[in-house]
Amino acid sequence: MTLIVQKFGGTSVGTLERIEAIADKLVAFQRRGDSLVAVVSAMSGETNRLLALAHEIHSQPNPRELDVLLSTGEQVTIALLSIAIEKRGIPARSYTGSQVYIRTDSAHNKARIQEIDAKRIHDDLRQGRIVVVAGFQGADEKGNITTLGRGGSDTTAVALTAALEAGECQIYTDVDGVYTTDPRVVPEARRLARLTYEEMLELASLGAKVLQIRAVEFASKHHVPLRVLSSFEKGEGTLITSEVEGMEEPLISGIAFNIDEAKLTILGVPDKPGVAYHILGPVADANIGVDMIIQNVGRDGTTDFTFTVHRNDYLKALEILRESASTLGAREVRGDDKIAKISVVGVGMRSHAGIASTMFHTLAQEGINIQTISTSEIKISVVIEEKYLELGVRALHSAFELEKAPSRISSSL
Ligand code: ASP
Ligand code: MG
Repeated sequence: MTLIVQKFGGTSVGTLERIEAIADKLVAFQRRGDSLVAVVSAMSGETNRLLALAHEIHSQPNPRELDVLLSTGEQVTIALLSIAIEKRGIPARSYTGSQVYIRTDSAHNKARIQEIDAKRIHDDLRQGRIVVVAGFQGADEKGNITTLGRGGSDTTAVALTAALEAGECQIYTDVDGVYTTDPRVVPEARRLARLTYEEMLELASLGAKVLQIRAVEFASKHHVPLRVLSSFEKGEGTLITSEVEGMEEPLISGIAFNIDEAKLTILGVPDKPGVAYHILGPVADANIGVDMIIQNVGRDGTTDFTFTVHRNDYLKALEILRESASTLGAREVRGDDKIAKISVVGVGMRSHAGIASTMFHTLAQEGINIQTISTSEIKISVVIEEKYLELGVRALHSAFELEKAPSRISSSL
């Protein structure tokens, strides 16, 4: 008997027909002999609808009360799904987060799970029930209802998998896995059979919005194997696990991109200690996150400094930078919010040189100018002009032959 935790997102439970289809699926697994815990989201659009209601009354609703409100979306789905399962002759039990003791901290609207008491669920499973748990919610030590942040049902599912010591956490969604890049941009994009947590984190934070980032972090920390699957089509999906020593790895796993950033440059600042702090300190004080930072080599006692921020923060950052420029006696401030960032990601990069040069050569052949570059151990990112985004992603996808099933090379070579 295997114990599986399956999570169904908002679109998967978006209508009664879909809820009934999920009940069919769960019942079929149960009849095959598996033990099942289903974690569900609110029906699609429901969380947004509830949020809008609160905001019609108050522009900044009390976070505690917002959690009481938002958690009801999932409560509707667990009951409907349990009713649908019982209609098929299999006993089911639905539970809200607090009823199965999902204990969180008290950070309303973005709470973190601290502890889960799996006993109640184990008791139900022993009695042959399918257990249906509301995602996205828990309660703090005083019993206040909390929610885990948008997309938080993924985290509930991962945390339950860890607490129940279940074999795998299966995330059913409206796509059939994680792709080499966005298929809307590159039709040849391919579903990845497997991926490491690290790669998924890089791809997720860069725009492949398949899983809540926190859920992947949690899975990585607790070594929970995660599988992304389609609710609507059959298939193996994408399995996300730790990197295994000597595991066969493709060089590059995927290409992520976004147009969420803007670039700011300050020219002709004095090249002396404390300047970076003078420029970036006020930006951080304004709660503006900075992504890439580049400082030029100094010449004649001055240097140039470039950094990127989220596009929403662009005008604010520009204003701050203009102020710093006048105190520092800088020559000029420039800004550009028509930029795009493309990143190639792969753990295979660790053991193989030449990825960067392939990337730069490919972009050069397309006549695409690279404005800034940044790298990590498993990622190379470039900023280019926004209008070349799709061309760049397509060219790189084909240069790294991502449309082909990986000719796997051993990273232990
Ligand atoms: N219903 C919540 C949301 O829409 C949580 C989730 O679906 O994971 O963000
Ligand atoms: Mg989701």
